[in-house]
Amino acid sequence: MTANVKLVCLECGTTNRAPADRVGAGPKCGTCGTKLADGKVRALDAAMLDKAARTDDLPLLVDFWAPWCGPCRMMAPQFAQAAQALGPKARLAKIDTQDHPQVSTKYNIRGIPALILFQNGREVARLAGARPAAEIEAFVRQHSRQPA
Ligand code: ZN
Repeated sequence: MTANVKLVCLECGTTNRAPADRVGAGPKCGTCGTKLADGKVRALDAAMLDKAARTDDLPLLVDFWAPWCGPCRMMAPQFAQAAQALGPKARLAKIDTQDHPQVSTKYNIRGIPALILFQNGREVARLAGARPAAEIEAFVRQHSRQPA
């Protein structure tokens, strides 16, 4: 018997349910058809971040960044590489804290880049400062609980 995992489509915001053992097969959003876990980094807005953070059963790693932040820009390709490496086991996303300043207050971000890992609807760990891809990947693997 396989449990279902809840995943918010990061394109349209629909909450999808997929059998845990099918996530690797690339399930698509029932509403808009976007692949739910395809190893790509998606840009979130504040509402999408809140919904995914409190809903997603799969690990969701969010990069809090801003265009004026040099280390953030330097980390972006590393973050994208980690997203590819983790594939469907975790989803990586980013939010621009300049466009959405309220999230810095809500999630108590003291400096950027900051990475927060969410799973099963809550924050499980965070990491501050720019990191290479291997470290980002190891952080996610260390702190996430893989469903079934
Ligand atoms: Zn969708």
